[in-house]
Amino acid sequence: MAKIIENLKQIQIKIKQAQERSNAQQQVHIIAVTKEVDVARTNEAIEASLLHLGENRPEGLLTKTEAIEQPVNWHYIGSLQTRKVKQVINKIDYLHSLDRFSLAEEIEKRAEHVVKCFVQVNVSGEESKHGLTAEETIPFLRSLSEMTKLEVVGLMTMAPHSDDEQLIRSVFRNLKKLQQEVVALKLPYAPCTELSMGMSNDYEIAVEEGATFVRIGTALVG
Ligand SMILES: *Cc1c(COP(=O)(O)O)cnc(C)c1O
Repeated sequence: MAKIIENLKQIQIKIKQAQERSNAQQQVHIIAVTKEVDVARTNEAIEASLLHLGENRPEGLLTKTEAIEQPVNWHYIGSLQTRKVKQVINKIDYLHSLDRFSLAEEIEKRAEHVVKCFVQVNVSGEESKHGLTAEETIPFLRSLSEMTKLEVVGLMTMAPHSDDEQLIRSVFRNLKKLQQEVVALKLPYAPCTELSMGMSNDYEIAVEEGATFVRIGTALVG
């Protein structure tokens, strides 16, 4: 296994190059997705000054948050069952998978702090993927107006597994378009300034298209 610090350097260079290609200057936060690695490797990521960590299962999140005392930002990136909300919601800083009203209601009931949420959008319309359709997204956001424990900081998507760069790019581009529509609504509880998109295989395209949070597992800690 390569040293995380070396992987990180390469990724940072590629992010910078992607921004130069697209003339973009957004701040890009790297989330180290630690779902496939143990606590020791997660600690190595923290030592490499990665302070945004991502998990996609309650068990993994709880194991890591119990073992790790440093103040890091925990991101929950997997789909979250309503009945699991109470186990995880007060351990995390960001939820990337808000995709239904019943989940929002349960968060409202259980959260002891304001949770920064990304609404997950299934831009590509693949049946296997979670998330709202683009058309459902704005009505869903409007339905959250009474919630006091959720702040919608952005939108999240996953691109299809594909070698078709244009297809991947169009998914990211459409998410950005939708995000700008949401920003224009000026909903006080949904500033929606962030875009969570890009993984090990497609983060450079995502950054070119405006990602502000990339979620990287294999290429960074794997
Ligand atoms: C696993 C996972 C990632 C990271 O995937 P890699 O290909 O290992 O970088 C990113 N986002 C989500 C939602 C994931 O489940």
